[in-house]
Amino acid sequence: MSALGQTARERVGAAEDALAAIRVRCMACGAEQSGSSSRTACPTCGGLLDVVTPITGPIDPAVFGARDRSLTGRSGVWRYRPLLPALPEASIVSRWEGNTPLYDDARLTTYAGMTGDVRFKHEGHNPTASFKDRGMTVGVSHARAVGARLVACASTGNTSASLASYAAAAGLPALVLVPDGKISESKLAQTVAYGARVVQIAGDFDAALTLLRELTAAYDVYLVNSVNPFRLEGQKTIVIEAIDQLGWQAPDYIVLPGGNLGNTAAFGKALIELREAGLIAKLPRLVVVQAAGAAPFAAYAAGGWVDFAPVHAETVASAIKIGNPASTPRARRSIERTNGLVTSVDDAAILDAKAEIDRVGIGCEPASAASLAGLRKLVAAGAIPPDASAVCVLTGHVLKDSETIARYHFDDIGGAPRPRANRPLRVAADLPSLERALSDALHG
Ligand SMILES: *Cc1c(COP(=O)(O)O)cnc(C)c1O
Repeated sequence: MSALGQTARERVGAAEDALAAIRVRCMACGAEQSGSSSRTACPTCGGLLDVVTPITGPIDPAVFGARDRSLTGRSGVWRYRPLLPALPEASIVSRWEGNTPLYDDARLTTYAGMTGDVRFKHEGHNPTASFKDRGMTVGVSHARAVGARLVACASTGNTSASLASYAAAAGLPALVLVPDGKISESKLAQTVAYGARVVQIAGDFDAALTLLRELTAAYDVYLVNSVNPFRLEGQKTIVIEAIDQLGWQAPDYIVLPGGNLGNTAAFGKALIELREAGLIAKLPRLVVVQAAGAAPFAAYAAGGWVDFAPVHAETVASAIKIGNPASTPRARRSIERTNGLVTSVDDAAILDAKAEIDRVGIGCEPASAASLAGLRKLVAAGAIPPDASAVCVLTGHVLKDSETIARYHFDDIGGAPRPRANRPLRVAADLPSLERALSDALHG
């Protein structure tokens, strides 16, 4: 039923009727009230309440919608198999990855300075809470198909959590090299919990990756960092699924954070292939956003692709704290083919955009918020028209980095809380104290 054509009063009336039709019954005395009440105990006897489910006869399962429960049907990656490498079915390791939501929120559109259709593809809704799972299902499946004995990665945290999970699912031993003390506790905790062998390297991510590449050159170890082309095939499905969710209408811009630039490489490849396959008519422009303290690719693009110079990376967004991105040439190809843009934003802009995304109830980790911060910056600079359509990729879940949330909300900056700081109140366990602390909310 559609609400179109209804007046506001009719809509309110319909909502009231719907609520009144819901029956809520006391399990102790059987007294009933309607769903319009917000009471959570029986007004007659104080007993606990049950909502009554009105079953009037047999229900045909078809009313729940047809679902494909096969491997390819339930995975938001393998569903797009005609666009993926045809690995043997028996080697596929899938954890129902993908199927992530495409949010929109008017407050975030306004924050971006836009009036057009702005969406947020939330990859934090993957099984280990970052987009890395989309690549890992293909990478680990390939490792299994080629008979790998040990799978390994260097990681800023999310790749290691994802590898640890998929390797465990496949029954393969996993080795993870992480920069000591420089990844979030939650990411390290996930990796340890899923049983990977973790080695903390006394150096940064770039040092860990260099070391691992030396190790894989000398030993029979399967490398699943994003230099691995199979992993990138899975990551293509982020944009494929987003455009599918938009009814195969590509947006004008796709905005993503850039660290090791695996996604930038994968997205460009995906878009070219979608056009080749006749699934989209026009190519969206890719917009890559780096953290200002880890922006060698932005500098490379600004200099007209003349000299690429690695940097020593420093940023609060640990997932993109990478000074020498492994996929640089592939990422450059993506930007050139999609007439893309590359920019950078400072940590303050990342943290403010993150607080904005968090507080509308969506939430993401710091690196993810670079997409919104970058969009806002480019719209303000006139490089992106406000009435354009855009999909921002939120790469990881809000719980991936709770240390940064605590610092943002609980620590002062320059002697005062940040404008968006939200501090829990500390109150004695008596009603007058609670009333005093909440007076604005209770009487407002
Ligand atoms: C890995 C990661 C990135 C960086 O992606 P690249 O493909 O390396 O550019 C960004 N955000 C999060 C949350 C990540 O885990």
